[in-house]
Amino acid sequence: MSVNIAIDGPAGAGKSTIAKACAAKLGYVYVDTGAMYRSIALYMIEHGIDVSDENLVSSNVSSVSLDISYADGEQRIFLNKIDVTGKIRTPEVSAAASAVSAYKKVRESLLSMQRDIAAKENVIMDGRDIGTTILPNADIKIYLTASADVRGNRRYKELTEKGIKVDLESVINDVKKRDEADLTRAVSPLRMASDAILIDSSDMTIDQVVDKIVNYVNGMIKK
Ligand code: C5P
Repeated sequence: MSVNIAIDGPAGAGKSTIAKACAAKLGYVYVDTGAMYRSIALYMIEHGIDVSDENLVSSNVSSVSLDISYADGEQRIFLNKIDVTGKIRTPEVSAAASAVSAYKKVRESLLSMQRDIAAKENVIMDGRDIGTTILPNADIKIYLTASADVRGNRRYKELTEKGIKVDLESVINDVKKRDEADLTRAVSPLRMASDAILIDSSDMTIDQVVDKIVNYVNGMIKK
């Protein structure tokens, strides 16, 4: 049986950086489910489909085929056979991903893909509903959060480092808007699972959070 670790939490809590580092230390596969929603969003943008139109998006989901591969701890995602890993991190795609992820048809289309990966590999899977919906029987569940300002500042740094021009205030606002949408949507809203452990990373370094999780996992999982 594979070991499954779920990490959920709001945008910019550091989930991907932390999950990736923990996966490397533990020798697990890091699965970034946000990239799947982002790729569906990119497809809609590239095909001129209005992401606020649920019916239209839903009727086009079946045209999206996603493949995931892993090399050197990095996840690469292919949209209809084209590697879009580097293209899905823009603020435009973030906003569109937030919109399409609220649709039942979109979430259903990704559920089995996410479960299949977790069934085959020891994974650290990050997202919004991994501990509550995708892997309710995960061995370990973590809910990682931080204050909205801290999260906005981190996202700003990440985008600027990639050469994407943004202003801090609008990044903080985008983060808040996405949280609000994730928390209030009807289908699979962002929730902390009742059996998850809560980590607030506002005043912690990445290394401190990684060590905390790795120590916790090593204490819980019998080798
Ligand atoms: O994690 P990331 O910021 O890349 O996710 C992009 C968007 O996809 C989020 O704002 C959220 O709305 C959605 N998402 C989701 N469920 C997941 C992962 C991401 O709804 N498991």
